[in-house]
Amino acid sequence: MLALSKMRRAELRIDLSALRHNAEIARRAAGERKILAAVKADGYGHGMSTVAQALRESVDGLMVATLGEGEVLRQAGVTQRIIVLQGVMGQAEARRAAQRFLEPVFHHVSQIDAVGTVGFGLPLTIWIKLDSGMHRVGFTPSEFHDAYTRLSRLRGVRPNPAVLTHFARADEPDRHPTERQIQVFNTSLDTLDSFAGETSLCNSAGLLAFPEAGGDWVRPGIMLYGGNPFVTGTAADHGLRPVMTLTTRLIAIRHVAHGEAVGYGGRFVAPEAMPVGVAAIGYGDGYPRHAPDGTPILVNGQRAAVIGRVSMDLVTIDLRGITAQVGDEIECWGTQLPIDEVAASSGTISYELMCQMSGRVHRMVTD
Ligand SMILES: *Cc1c(COP(=O)(O)O)cnc(C)c1O
Repeated sequence: MLALSKMRRAELRIDLSALRHNAEIARRAAGERKILAAVKADGYGHGMSTVAQALRESVDGLMVATLGEGEVLRQAGVTQRIIVLQGVMGQAEARRAAQRFLEPVFHHVSQIDAVGTVGFGLPLTIWIKLDSGMHRVGFTPSEFHDAYTRLSRLRGVRPNPAVLTHFARADEPDRHPTERQIQVFNTSLDTLDSFAGETSLCNSAGLLAFPEAGGDWVRPGIMLYGGNPFVTGTAADHGLRPVMTLTTRLIAIRHVAHGEAVGYGGRFVAPEAMPVGVAAIGYGDGYPRHAPDGTPILVNGQRAAVIGRVSMDLVTIDLRGITAQVGDEIECWGTQLPIDEVAASSGTISYELMCQMSGRVHRMVTD
């Protein structure tokens, strides 16, 4: 029965040609600017090293959140520049970064205090984060001059550190908050006597919607994976193709009577006698537990709706008007159903659905 058990499991297909296609779109938008691909959180759930290798010819560097992620990439043989967003805390971490040619971001004065003044074994390339309005991490404009000066004079740090900032609202139709951030970024750099470092401002939404933001590097993430970077429109509007497709199989079809409730908590009550499909996927695989009745799901390419509570291993589907048989393919999201639709229905964003993919899901990577 090997074939049957194999047939029943949830499968995540990763399409590397779509990834490279999306990188090409980022490249076109970037113009002369260089690209740092965001591959943190396991490459947004797509497999960090797989994504890094696939993008080797398409991007100019990679960006991770933690030192550990950077070390994993080096171990996998990645030789490109790697920026570590959370940076380092203390001498030992700074030495680890220097040894592996990882480039930490300094965003808080406690990091400068902790890093010491005796060097790191090897020269350390660093980035300095300016908080231009997101108010999460980064030196404020009033702290920035001192922080930059202190860091650029630090023993063991390469001259002319790069500066980056991050947009809080570049995905929204209102352009003003982002325009304001760009302005704060530029005026903060002007306070430095002779700045000669590199700069970076744009995430995916900034890259596509704010060409005037400039900078030497752009930092796309979600667009590379085919998610919509904006709160409006669709990923396809920008020519982006989904990289991940999550499928499973229909493992049962039930006929429930009028008034019968389906699944935990009896959330869905059949308004009439109706067929209900059971698909082998649940929140244990990364399907969102908060998907309400009506969340779209494809049965053999036909658009159907999730009904009843999502459980750990199963979801139930309204099969009224749907032609279906046990064993049929279910697409949760991917090439035929945009992940953004499922995310919106479930009260979240594509980023979270992608990052949430569990290790139980069988992965298949195609070139
Ligand atoms: C994750 C991240 C990005 C990429 O953002 P997207 O919205 O996925 O394009 C860029 N910059 C920073 C600082 C990030 O943390």
